Amino acid sequence: MSAPPEPVGWDAARTAAALAAGEVSAVEVTRAHLDRIDAVDDRVRAFLHVDREGALAAAGAVDERRRAGQALGPLAGVPLALKDIVATADMPTTCGSRMLDGWRPPYDATITERIRAGGLVILGKTNMDEFAMGSSTEFSAYGASSNPWDLERTPGGSGGGSSAAVAAYEVPLAIGTDTGGSIRQPAAVTGTVGAKPTYGGVSRYGIVAMASSLDQAGPCARTVLDAALLHSVIGGHDPRDSTSVREPLPGVVGAARRADVAGVRIGVVRELGGEGFQAGVRQRFDEAVALLTGLGADVVEVSCPHFPHALGAYYLIMPSEASSNLARFDGMRYGLRTGDDADRTVEEVMAHTRATGFGEEVVRRIILGTYALSAGYYDAYYGQAQKVRTLVQRDLAAAFDQVDVLVSPTAPTTAFRLGEKVGDPLAMYLNDVATIPANLAGSPAMSVPIGLAPEDGLPVGLQVMAPALADDRMYNVAAAVEAALQERRGHPILEEANAL
Ligand code: GLN
Repeated sequence: MSAPPEPVGWDAARTAAALAAGEVSAVEVTRAHLDRIDAVDDRVRAFLHVDREGALAAAGAVDERRRAGQALGPLAGVPLALKDIVATADMPTTCGSRMLDGWRPPYDATITERIRAGGLVILGKTNMDEFAMGSSTEFSAYGASSNPWDLERTPGGSGGGSSAAVAAYEVPLAIGTDTGGSIRQPAAVTGTVGAKPTYGGVSRYGIVAMASSLDQAGPCARTVLDAALLHSVIGGHDPRDSTSVREPLPGVVGAARRADVAGVRIGVVRELGGEGFQAGVRQRFDEAVALLTGLGADVVEVSCPHFPHALGAYYLIMPSEASSNLARFDGMRYGLRTGDDADRTVEEVMAHTRATGFGEEVVRRIILGTYALSAGYYDAYYGQAQKVRTLVQRDLAAAFDQVDVLVSPTAPTTAFRLGEKVGDPLAMYLNDVATIPANLAGSPAMSVPIGLAPEDGLPVGLQVMAPALADDRMYNVAAAVEAALQERRGHPILEEANAL
């Protein structure tokens, strides 16, 4: 695939500039993207819901305000898609689950409100693994999405729909959520950019909770600058989220424009990138590290000795919190209800609803989490996992005493085949080995494309991790890598995708 024609091939910053200059209208931009969705989404299946009329009406309103000379946000008129875990009062919000089939929230999430207030045009809701549990979108109750690079492969998960939509030029921007890697791993395997902000940096109000101490929404885009622009629209304190940070939003847009790593101290995490990492992933990662050195960064190796235990701790903490959060889906208050006949008690209807409404992976985690939290096992599992979490946090704190940012490959492999790992939970979980530490610590991390693996021609991502509240540092480093590679290659990496 070479870049599709304008304005669909434009990134968000270019689109915003064209809109501001009056080269195109928001309605024209929106219509072009809706046409693109019509042309490719039967193959990519990134969207669960497309709101054609709502999008055109929102775009028309932006055009009107612009004509009237009103002040508009920097991304006004730019199309965007929301992961179907973000509450929207005018569209269904299913979380990829039968449990919420067709459910319409009574209110908008804070980020939905901010996106609308910024004049961005919401085209629809994207596919995801059920309740954001998974690394491939194959656990969606509505069928898997495909990777635009190779339709036989997954776009990663859980937010594979958002990243696939961005990679397929269906939207320049999308929202993802990242509990253990669900923004960054899909970005890596689709050749796009995805950022998980500092925990609490973007409001969780109105985002269906999976594991509340880990969940974080963030931007998906085709460029680092676009991700930063969207981050600025959605970020900042929200009194409706008790874990929302009060500090001012880091200067991510300025950092993305700076793209200068001269003198920046960069640590290569020794524990991430060895065994289990595909040769081509390692090769591109090593080249990116050499590139950073060439750009004047001060690169050293750093050890985070407890990282090998992060995955195990995550897969106790995450299911524990999820088992509690998902208790609200009981068939009584909202969403699906099954088995509701006269012979059954309330408890039996609840059990019936939950047995038919949740998919296998969600059930697995609810059982695992309930077990880990139960009296007699709590100390041995959940308590132990929380101790490991503290050790991982200390590893990162110690590392950030020595360096400004850390880098690693984002995912151990390139995009895997649909069906390849879906029957093997452990193989699926291992995709998150490099992304989970940042969630456990609450620190920001992002993925930026660094080329194609020689053995399969599929995209590889570089992960940049920064200390909490220093999100700007990761944007600066990612933008420097992006700019240097783009100069060498001569065109954006996505123009090498060929499946559409
Ligand atoms: N793949 C991870 C999991 O299944 C991460 C999910 C996420 O970040 N939402 O838990």
